[in-house]
Amino acid sequence: MQSGDTIVAISSATGAAARMIVRMSGAEAITIAAKLLGRQPESSVTRASVTVRECSFPAWIYLFRAPHSVTSEDVVEFHIPGNPLLARWTLEAMISHGARQADAGEFTARAYFNGKLDLSQAEGVSAAVSAHSEAELNAARQLLAGELSRRLAPLMEEIAHTLALVEAGIDFTEEDISFISPAEALERVVAVIRALEQLVSDSPRFEPLTHLPQVVLVGKPNAGKSTLLNALSGQKRAVVSPVAGTTRDVLGATVTLARGSIQLLDVAGLDDSSDASDESVQSQIDRDMQLRARSTLEEADYLLLVKDVTDTSETIRLSRDADLLVITKLDLPSCAGVLPAASEKQSWAARPRCGDAGIRTISLSALTGAGLHELRAALDKMVFSREANQTLSLNARHLQYINACIHSLKRAAHSASKHGSEILALELREALDSLGSVLGEVSPDDVIGRIFATFCIGK
Ligand code: GDP
Repeated sequence: MQSGDTIVAISSATGAAARMIVRMSGAEAITIAAKLLGRQPESSVTRASVTVRECSFPAWIYLFRAPHSVTSEDVVEFHIPGNPLLARWTLEAMISHGARQADAGEFTARAYFNGKLDLSQAEGVSAAVSAHSEAELNAARQLLAGELSRRLAPLMEEIAHTLALVEAGIDFTEEDISFISPAEALERVVAVIRALEQLVSDSPRFEPLTHLPQVVLVGKPNAGKSTLLNALSGQKRAVVSPVAGTTRDVLGATVTLARGSIQLLDVAGLDDSSDASDESVQSQIDRDMQLRARSTLEEADYLLLVKDVTDTSETIRLSRDADLLVITKLDLPSCAGVLPAASEKQSWAARPRCGDAGIRTISLSALTGAGLHELRAALDKMVFSREANQTLSLNARHLQYINACIHSLKRAAHSASKHGSEILALELREALDSLGSVLGEVSPDDVIGRIFATFCIGK
């Protein structure tokens, strides 16, 4: 990761948009911008005409002088018409005038190296950019707002203070002066261990949030799973056919709900009746698909049992309880008499009831759309309500260093009662370094490099 030169990148998302942003940061940013504009950008926002490759277009130029910018360096942003080609040409013109294409995460890295962010806040930027749900966004916001630094700072302070007292005692060993008794050092260390263990047990993990929750549609062949997958995802992902067994492999589509996205999977129709003694190739393929379907549902976060309203046969056997029962094909004429009159169907479908197995039930017609809204709401509640109120999430890197700190403190607690002050000081210093690593205060360069490499260019 270089620094000192002027970096540039297209900072807006790829693809068509109303506006695109080309951002520069570094000592030469203002000079390079002036070359493209034919004049110096003076105020913080300027309307200007930009000329690249003999093509002129209007742009808004945003100027943030050092140190009042995201990176603490001079930053100039060109907000140009949303044309990827114009953005590319603008970027190339800036490079031809001396800027360098930024590496992934280099803007945030500069903010970190210039003291604008600590490492956990920088991770918050990355997490916010890639968040798929409200819960992930909340967790990222907590990191960005420096919540982890705020929680760790008093504990680091306590370790540093204890260490200072222990080291002062070592310096005055000859005079036989003690600044902290072993019992007091032990008490302080144990209090920090408790606080850290509490933090670890109270904070959910960040990683499970960053994969899309997997929701599997399971049911007999022809229950209407593929039709439901298509209706919820708004795409024709799955082939729909009245011929039982049309869905052979596991198909997935992303479904966006009110508070986040889920991965909805449609597995090959589970069929309890497949004949294990039939050795034909077709039967072997069927059995493989059944096996695959069953392993997908073992690994799923949630199961939706899909049942055709006209199917009066026994429900399929599952190795685990379904989280929701979905009754399909509510529009079929055969429902008349069994179900309320057509005029009532909409509201009837909307009302979740308890099915045979006592699980929550939603009745719908993927064909007419009745009940789909309620299914979306139920899925949203099932998947996201548990996560939405989370305050702070810890990722694997945070946990690694916090656990290392707890281990050092446990050794320090042992030393406080058994060994001399030198060993105690050594363990306390290690504990302090570990917590410092969470915030990037003493992180080795390769760890820092790895964190910023996960960013996209332009961040
Ligand atoms: P799968 O085997 O469970 O994936 O079932 P499909 O989605 O392929 O559907 C099997 C048959 O049921 C197809 O002919 C669909 O058109 C039909 N079907 C699915 N959903 C509905 C529905 O809500 N109403 C009606 N009338 N037919 C449906």
